[in-house]
Amino acid sequence: MVDFAALRQKMVDEQLKARDIRDMRVLQAMNHVPRHEFVPPELQHLAYQDKPLPIGENQTISQPYIVALMTQMLQLEGHERVLEIGTGCGYQTAVLCELAAYVYSLERFALLADRASTTLARLGYDNLDIHVGDGSQGLPDMEPFDAIIVTAAAPSIPGPLVSQLSPNQGRLVVPVGDSKGQHIYIVQRIGDKNKVKRTIPVRFVPLIGRFGFRDDGNPPPATV
Ligand code: SAM
Repeated sequence: MVDFAALRQKMVDEQLKARDIRDMRVLQAMNHVPRHEFVPPELQHLAYQDKPLPIGENQTISQPYIVALMTQMLQLEGHERVLEIGTGCGYQTAVLCELAAYVYSLERFALLADRASTTLARLGYDNLDIHVGDGSQGLPDMEPFDAIIVTAAAPSIPGPLVSQLSPNQGRLVVPVGDSKGQHIYIVQRIGDKNKVKRTIPVRFVPLIGRFGFRDDGNPPPATV
């Protein structure tokens, strides 16, 4: 029998604490959420390794370190309303549910959204709402959000997501670049000003949508 709790503790110690994950609440959440419950049964033994894994529909569950790092960038304290774009298998959603008051999550594949909802309900998470749709346009009916995280790569910072941030220090964390690679950007909204910071290089699957890439992987035509 695999001791998943021991593997999870090892992941936190060797992949997160040993790097630059310092937010104690993020470390606790990563030590609590059973990542192996979110991957296909035949891959469960790999769930705590330092890498992404396939979850169906040609999509992936992100590497644990990147989940922890992007979550840390959101600087959550517990009272926030968070929007996640790219539910995937729901693992990042669970981490957010541990750290914020309420999580809205958008996924373009209904199959993944349904599966994630089932897993999250089975594990007892109830402070979330999963929607199927184009997350590059955000969720205007539910704005403003204290924090927005995008777990797929956009060709540029999606404008609708910036405008759905709370003017009171809302934070957006989003990978931006092309199919060869991207950087994680942090956008902080302070009143009607935005502070933009480019951070580490990453490689994500594309955000497909109106303010993302087209279905063929190309960016949308430039508008004038
Ligand atoms: N956070 C996820 C997890 O923990 O499993 C990993 C997400 S995976 C790297 C990226 C996800 O973004 C995929 O499930 C993909 O279908 C989704 N996606 C891509 N474009 C999207 C869009 N415009 N709206 C919503 N979801 C999108």
